[in-house]
Amino acid sequence: MPPYEEYIEAIKPLWQSRWLTNMGTYHNCFEEQLRIYLDVPNVSLVVNGHMALEMTIQAFSFPHGSEIITTPFTFVSTTHAIIRNGLRPVFCDVKEEDGTIDEKKIEDLISEKTVAILPVHIYGNICNVEEIKRIADNYGLKVIYDAAHAFGVKYKGHGIGCFGDASIFSFHATKVFNTIEGGAVAFKNQELYDTLYNLKNFGIRNEELVVTVGANAKMNEFCAIMGLCNLKHIAETLKKREYIFNYYCQRLEKIDCIKILIKDLPSKEWNYAYLPIIIDNKSVVTRDEVYDYLCGRGIFTRKYFFPITADHACFKNKYRKLDLKVARDLSNRILTLPIYEDMETKQVDRIIASILNII
Ligand SMILES: *Cc1c(COP(=O)(O)O)cnc(C)c1O
Repeated sequence: MPPYEEYIEAIKPLWQSRWLTNMGTYHNCFEEQLRIYLDVPNVSLVVNGHMALEMTIQAFSFPHGSEIITTPFTFVSTTHAIIRNGLRPVFCDVKEEDGTIDEKKIEDLISEKTVAILPVHIYGNICNVEEIKRIADNYGLKVIYDAAHAFGVKYKGHGIGCFGDASIFSFHATKVFNTIEGGAVAFKNQELYDTLYNLKNFGIRNEELVVTVGANAKMNEFCAIMGLCNLKHIAETLKKREYIFNYYCQRLEKIDCIKILIKDLPSKEWNYAYLPIIIDNKSVVTRDEVYDYLCGRGIFTRKYFFPITADHACFKNKYRKLDLKVARDLSNRILTLPIYEDMETKQVDRIIASILNII
């Protein structure tokens, strides 16, 4: 959160203007600042990351029942967004080294019903954007990235939101950058701005003209101001996270049966949002035993993401059964450790000591 006084000072003008939502001054200002920060051609602000994804898929007007190739090793929102649009997820396995979609397995899953690929930059690990583009171009597919974990990440000097037809970000309270709740879509084609605008504002163009069957997914002024305040501090936030992240890694790397599920850091500007570890198959303890042990010592880790979305009760046995061996295996062995900007090294020391104890 930003300093309390700073936020309170920033929201004061709202008591004058009484303009609380509906694309206000702060909404528009935040949208523009975000566009610059993310280094992308266009940005549309949304009430949350999920609606950003759901509306982006909707914006492309794919025929009902079309298929989207996606990853099951993600937050359930990714899969929900496809199904709630009347489309079918076709789950593609992921790569063991970084948990992103296995681009070598995408082409085999393409059918005459396939309309898009929806990969996830999981933990800020960047998908193979070049190869995914090649496949998409080859088969005339759209590419929509779930970049909920990749705020502030750059790849080869470009904002991560520059890749694919669109990328969505989440500014949920638990993410590395938050607007309390919030999200955004980044995209190349400027026409998408109006389509998304209609979808998030009931399709209203003026008082008497409604052009789209839209929803309500606008970001309000309080959230936009939270975003403006947090954006001022983002560089410092990421720097503190980088320090803690590296401190953790130096210690984790010495533990034999643990692997950090993050790929080649130095080549990119990165956000240090998560610290995902894999408990090796050779380990005598299971992931769940480590989770329970740490929990018992007041250290709250998360099984991000277990189970894989294809195995959730609401989808089970409904979608094409595919070979998802790597995703299931990672999901059974993954644990994300606590990391936050004001974390102290002695807290990391205690976590490492506890991990060593149980292992
Ligand atoms: C957080 C998250 C979302 C959803 O974002 P919200 O802002 O919580 O709606 C979607 N996909 C992934 C991968 C996420 O982590």
